Amino acid sequence: LTVENYPNVKRLDSFKKLGKQDLDYFQTVLSQQEILEANENEDLAFYNEDWMRKYRGQSKLVLRPKTTEQVSKILKYCNDQNLAVVPQGGNTGLVGGSVPVFDEIVLSLTQLNKIREFDDVSGILKCDAGVILEAADMYLAERGYIFPMDLGAKGSCHVGGIVATNAGGLRLLRYGSLHGTVLGLEVVLPNGEIVNSMNALRKDNTGYDLKQLFIGSEGTIGVVTGVSILCPTRPNAFNVSFLGVESYEAVQKVFVQAKKELGEILSAFEFMDLKSQNLTKVHLADMDHPLSDDHPFYILIETSGSKKDHDDAKLEAFLENAMEEGLVLDGVVAQDETELKNLWQWREMIPESSQAGGGVYKYDVSLPLKDLYSLVDAANAKLEESGLSSIEDESKPVISAVGYGHVGDGNLHLNVAVRRYTKEVEKCLEPFVYEFVSSKNGSISAEHGLGFQKKNYIGYSKSDQEIKMIKQLKNLYDPNSILNPYKYV
Ligand code: FAD
Repeated sequence: LTVENYPNVKRLDSFKKLGKQDLDYFQTVLSQQEILEANENEDLAFYNEDWMRKYRGQSKLVLRPKTTEQVSKILKYCNDQNLAVVPQGGNTGLVGGSVPVFDEIVLSLTQLNKIREFDDVSGILKCDAGVILEAADMYLAERGYIFPMDLGAKGSCHVGGIVATNAGGLRLLRYGSLHGTVLGLEVVLPNGEIVNSMNALRKDNTGYDLKQLFIGSEGTIGVVTGVSILCPTRPNAFNVSFLGVESYEAVQKVFVQAKKELGEILSAFEFMDLKSQNLTKVHLADMDHPLSDDHPFYILIETSGSKKDHDDAKLEAFLENAMEEGLVLDGVVAQDETELKNLWQWREMIPESSQAGGGVYKYDVSLPLKDLYSLVDAANAKLEESGLSSIEDESKPVISAVGYGHVGDGNLHLNVAVRRYTKEVEKCLEPFVYEFVSSKNGSISAEHGLGFQKKNYIGYSKSDQEIKMIKQLKNLYDPNSILNPYKYV
């Protein structure tokens, strides 16, 4: 599988192959429970294979340090010995960045998972990188605060992982990007040096803001071991409504109206096409879809605020107006916590539903809002033209291309649900998708990063000059290229 998956990549001879003396060294740094070796009973599949089951490496060793000092000793040794390393969080990344390509050592942050401190006046949380996002949010909930981002993989992804990918997620519309909310980081450089900037300051204009370099660097120049992040007060009133509309034009109109009428309480505005909901209906077969009739597009709106009556009145007025004007054809509003969670399921389960038939080619792009959905139409047309796609005919590799995403952020997820991964499908879609996005001045990665999947396509979104600077930075901090090799840098 690996050889077929990576036909154009060769293992670099400069990297040493793991030997007994290396294991002996790691045993002086870590306990036996913190070292996982491949053997006849353990193939390390969980650490070698990505969430989409699309990329698979052949690592024979997983190291799971519990302290920053251990991470430092491991990296220093690997750097001195030219052993390649892949930092790994919850392994939910969607661009093949979190798994080895060949025999790189997996440095899993899973056990570096303590909350360090929380200041309930400022709302600043300091925690280890391996804390699971949902665990961090639950800890904050008990103290009346909320983690400033949320995403479907929250039960598995790490705080360090979302920082390393600069994940966007479902509430970026409200709380902004991690480039704004992360106040400080603790990072271990490939040579083992620990850079501690775990600031709790909202303002600090003393020269370059170095932490920004590591946010979204995808494990290529340092390993994030600690995160300091500003968390907002948890809203005590949440509302979710699920609406059916006639066209993508209508989605945009409802968005404008929602910003105007819901104003400061609007916390998520997500859209989904009918095809994505059809896949999700198959996957959530034991649940009824929120709307009994089919509609070409659906919208999920979340509001959150501090006063339920106020929010209810605003949402009600907004929905009445939108329906009177004929913008919204049908809709429901969650009446309690369970219904609210159920409505979110129809959005959050799309990634899983898209890959349930066999696999999924995922494209996560930014486009000007007016052009956002045109990519889905173009991809479906291209796949049909190539004779690769059919919902009924099981001999065709592609089931359907579906679109959904964060309208508020101009971010489309194009998911091409497939029965199996084939080179023909990949060739049909790439570089077609990237050319399309570039022609509209979009970005080929809105939030998932580049990883392995998009490593050859960075030029569609970055200039030669920018790529040169990225390489210079990589060479400066990781001159032996031991961190996450074969990926986008
Ligand atoms: P991993 O997958 O383990 O790693 C991702 C990358 O970061 C790799 O390159 C890895 O080397 C590096 N890395 C991980 N931890 C560290 C560290 N401590 N230091 C240095 N490098 C590190 N993304 C969005 O932006 N928005 C969404 O709405 C969204 N929804 C998702 C829904 C589902 C169901 C899934 C499966 C994924 C979704 N994602 C989304 C993808 C998203 O990138 C990841 O879920 C998350 O950001 C990765 O966190 P992780 O801990 O799993 O990192």
